Amino acid sequence: MCIFCSIVKGEIPSYKIYEDDKVLAFLDIKPVNPGHCLVIPKKHLENIEEIDEEYLSHLVKIVKKIGNKIKNNLNVLGYNVQVNNDPIAGQEIAHLHFHIIPRQKNDNLKLFPQKNYNSGEAEEIVKKLIKE
Ligand code: AMP
Ligand code: ZN
Repeated sequence: MCIFCSIVKGEIPSYKIYEDDKVLAFLDIKPVNPGHCLVIPKKHLENIEEIDEEYLSHLVKIVKKIGNKIKNNLNVLGYNVQVNNDPIAGQEIAHLHFHIIPRQKNDNLKLFPQKNYNSGEAEEIVKKLIKE
């Protein structure tokens, strides 16, 4: 069984901060910054492709709720929401989870390094992405 399913079942302890019949949120054990939370579906679904839209909407509502709490109750000015969707994107635990990472001034976190498109490349990508 996956480690997050064990947390859902209560077999592994966690610092829970929200729970309903479908969603659980708890502190990441190795926070990027204090208050770093993970929000997960209680059902074992690996990634965004596996979760249905209604379930995903509910999950995102909880992300918003906890984001507000982080701002209001931890006195944080903003946060990053991140999903590492699949191993290529850095997903280490194969159970969908949204990271909510509180940000602090001068926390030295860098956003992704960015590149430029070559000539014509953006147009080609748009053509592919607007196809059904
Ligand atoms: P990811 O790389 O997106 O799969 O992130 C997995 C996250 O789970 C990491 O940030 C870990 O620190 C966190 N993590 C791993 N084990 C536990 C645990 N037992 N309780 C809380 N967080 C955990
Ligand atoms: Zn699982």
